[in-house]
Amino acid sequence: MALDGARGARDEESREKKKKKKRRRKEEEEEEGEEEEEGAEAGGSPSAATMGDGDAGGRGLAGARPRGTERPSAVHGRLVLAFAVCIVALLAVTALAVLLSLRFDGCGPGAPGGAPGLPARGGNASLPGPARRDPQAGGEASTPGAPAARPPSDPEREHPWTHLRLPGHLKPLHYNLMLTAFMDNFTFSGEVNVEVACTNRTRYVVLHASRVAVDRVQLAEDRAAGAVPVAGFFLYPQTQVLVVVLNRSLDAHRNYNLKVVYSALIENELLGFFRSSYVLHGERRFLGVTQFSPTHARKAFPCFDEPIYKATFKISIKHQATYLSLSNMPVETSVFEEDGWVTDHFSQTPLMSTYYLAWAICNFTYRETTTKSGVAVRLYARPDAIRRGSGDYALHITKRLIEFYEDYFKVPYSLPKLDLLAVPKHPYAAMENWGLSIFVEQRILLDPSVSSISYLLDVTMVIVHEICHQWFGDLVTPVWWEDVWLKEGFAHYFEFVGTDYLYPGWNMEKQRFLTDVLHEVMLLDGLASSHPVSQEVLQATDIDRVFDWIAYKKGAALIRMLANFMGHSVFQRGLQDYLTIHKYGNAARNDLWNTLSEALKRNGKFVNIQEVMDQWTLQMGYPVITILGNLTAENRIVITQQHFIYDISAKTKALQLQNNSYLWQIPLTIVVGNRSHVSSEAIIWVSNKSEHHRITLDKGNWLLGNINQTGYFRVNYDLRNWRLLIDQLIRNHQVLSVSNRAGLIDDAFSLARAGYLPQHIPLEIIRYLSEEKDFLPWHAASRALYPLDKLLDRMEKYNVFNEYILKQVATTYIKLGWPKNNFNGSLVQASYQHEELRREVIMLACSFGNKHCHQQASTLISDWISSNRNRIPLNVRDIVYCTGVSLLDEDVWEFIWMKFHSTTAVSEKKILLEALTCSDDRNLLNRLLNLSLNSEVVLDQDAIDVIIHVARNPHGRDLAWKFFRDKWKILNTRYGEALFMNSKLISGVTEFLNTEGELKELKNFMKTYDGVAAASFLRAVETVEANVRWKALYQDELFQWLGKALRH
Ligand SMILES: [Zn+2]
Repeated sequence: MALDGARGARDEESREKKKKKKRRRKEEEEEEGEEEEEGAEAGGSPSAATMGDGDAGGRGLAGARPRGTERPSAVHGRLVLAFAVCIVALLAVTALAVLLSLRFDGCGPGAPGGAPGLPARGGNASLPGPARRDPQAGGEASTPGAPAARPPSDPEREHPWTHLRLPGHLKPLHYNLMLTAFMDNFTFSGEVNVEVACTNRTRYVVLHASRVAVDRVQLAEDRAAGAVPVAGFFLYPQTQVLVVVLNRSLDAHRNYNLKVVYSALIENELLGFFRSSYVLHGERRFLGVTQFSPTHARKAFPCFDEPIYKATFKISIKHQATYLSLSNMPVETSVFEEDGWVTDHFSQTPLMSTYYLAWAICNFTYRETTTKSGVAVRLYARPDAIRRGSGDYALHITKRLIEFYEDYFKVPYSLPKLDLLAVPKHPYAAMENWGLSIFVEQRILLDPSVSSISYLLDVTMVIVHEICHQWFGDLVTPVWWEDVWLKEGFAHYFEFVGTDYLYPGWNMEKQRFLTDVLHEVMLLDGLASSHPVSQEVLQATDIDRVFDWIAYKKGAALIRMLANFMGHSVFQRGLQDYLTIHKYGNAARNDLWNTLSEALKRNGKFVNIQEVMDQWTLQMGYPVITILGNLTAENRIVITQQHFIYDISAKTKALQLQNNSYLWQIPLTIVVGNRSHVSSEAIIWVSNKSEHHRITLDKGNWLLGNINQTGYFRVNYDLRNWRLLIDQLIRNHQVLSVSNRAGLIDDAFSLARAGYLPQHIPLEIIRYLSEEKDFLPWHAASRALYPLDKLLDRMEKYNVFNEYILKQVATTYIKLGWPKNNFNGSLVQASYQHEELRREVIMLACSFGNKHCHQQASTLISDWISSNRNRIPLNVRDIVYCTGVSLLDEDVWEFIWMKFHSTTAVSEKKILLEALTCSDDRNLLNRLLNLSLNSEVVLDQDAIDVIIHVARNPHGRDLAWKFFRDKWKILNTRYGEALFMNSKLISGVTEFLNTEGELKELKNFMKTYDGVAAASFLRAVETVEANVRWKALYQDELFQWLGKALRH
């Protein structure tokens, strides 16, 4: 699964910031109250109306759940209402069932006085979802309304349905799933037959089910043998399970067949089996798709919804013949009926887990190709996009990538086909369903005539990621969610390896990985509120929590470190063994470590990989290595390690951090150099807090550690060494590799931010950039400057900082100039490096207020408006739009707003929307914020980006922060269950708050919503505290140095 914005979201953003005189700011503050009111009113109505509809549609059903806000059609509304009435009726029946089941619970001899999580006696029971006694069971299976049998034997008194994990008495072997989808009223009915093996005697069948209305349950021994009487069944919403109570126990080592007949809604939201829509020829068309990972298959059919329960699946979908249906496997037969319905029977899947099962019902068309090994690859999208050829790029690279992975892993792709489906609405960038991967349109459709290199790179990497999952995740699946990083870390790492295969020479794994992954995640993992990459999953909410940047990016960074110290070819052979051994099964991290250790051993090397990697995966955070050179006359250096934390005071506050002496086994690579020469690389394994090593270090020689930043740690030096390194960069930076230059920049900024280094060291380092011709160090600098800029952008002396940065950028900006022509989709290495560098420098220049840059952007926008021809070069369009909106008047905003509505190219739509957040006009920003929650205007997944981008704008930061607090209930309902979205929103809105007042507001706000998204809010508080603390300690030092530097 690729999270949205997986490749450094900050990169695409055109920084909206532009200098405003203090005076102007003051005027705005005075006007603020009034403006806000107007803004809210202007934008509020449509949004509020739609929210109202959405709510009404939902309220009758199963209660508070995230749901989208798309306005349902009137017909649909009525049908939903009818369905709701049915559900209410079901609820009534259920209540009876529950009462019976409660009595049953309570009456047993020696029944526990109140087991935890048990529906309590005496009317205190939490309301279970719809369920019934089995009306079909008759005398054989169960007697409706008859009191259930005696309570279970002792070991089962604990009520296995109250636990997070399924009890493990039963194991699914095969599912037959038959669905009928009613796209006219967005409901579906299903019948699932599960063949289960009983491993331990049990009186209960417990499997997952959520928000489905169960009509009937039957159980039979094997297929031919007689029925097992069912005493009753009920849904237990706390753990999202369906419990079938039997009149007699099932025997171990026997197989049974469980049949459940049920129905549910095709929800207007983002998870389970949900619907979405698009407009074609002025007509709204609907589609139904699924998103089951990590725990939402249970919303579509009762199942054993844990990754370890692999089974085979045979799916049949009945739908109106005007639609087509897709699933993981190809259609085996289609049976047409006279009434305009058709049933598609799909081939049986190999063994697989529920979370990457999938189906879709849509009116899409497709294009196709075939790999060398005969795998049929199709890309399905809305007909207009297919006609335009917007899916051709994705289709083409998918074919090549399957061939690449088959060769790299030496394991063939497992299924006969792979469909890629481009959908308008999806909670993530994409989901790797085996054989039917689903992508949000913005991460797969590409119109070469209007797409930038960044966009192309985004699309490419999301596809590389999902195709990798067909092996890492689908073929070999993590045992449990604590090791979700095993699949996500690999897929994220391979984004870079796979892109290098498609574009040799782009050096993604060696270079771009640093700025997009390593630097990003070290920022997050440097917080005291971080967590280990493998983390225990004890309760259901933990499952959502484990899908975060730590799992993706730190996972990838650790894998890269491992590949580097093992050697890439040994690493590759180890992965081949791992996949071959565990295919169609599950594996835990130790299985991987063992296989890799074996591969090393065969190569004559003995490293206990488990021992090394456990320290990196089970401990949170990372170390900073400090190398102190020439302390004695004997050429000895002292190397120390300590846990790197941005806010050192957080370390003293958190008991867990104080008591834990974090230590890592660190593969430290090191070189010694001088003005013209660099020694060859040595590796030192550092495992103690402090170690002495002998290194010959002549006068004037510098040391450099963590060569090419292959390790997941920071390196600090004594000030003398920093000076020598700065001197080296200024005299001849090419003595150091591109990655080392980028690494030094990021380490220096981060070390200064945390107080390990004087504030001016990083600012001195970037002085050499005027000579830098490579993209990566510029990128590293730009990314490091970005948070610093946000800390300072509302301060009185901000201009000094601004001026200093402009000075560093000016020479290169003039040298490179603006792009003249659009690249035509034929990207070669030189143009990628050159264009990305030019883009980065233009972005810095325009963001920090370079006059020429502003003029150029204004001219380009004006030309577009007056000629109605967009001649703005593709690779800088986002920068130009954003700068134009921030500099020019409301008409430009309206123009961009209009274009946002009229454009059909998804890449263009997104940057137009984001440009609107760049305005200085608080009325417009408020209007936009309010419109962002209207699903008909802004797609659900884009609304979050709008709010975050407004928060990045110094003129909008407080508006976004206020909007977020005011609308929190709506936002949390909408995104709370879509893992990651809430945490992205919370961090995006709060990460640049930096005053005592804002910190207080944040803490007060959290008190009101105690417990919701707790981990994200804790991280937010720590970040804001660190911001406040940094300002108190270092801003004067920084401004003083800048003042002096500018005078010289
Ligand atoms: Zn993934």
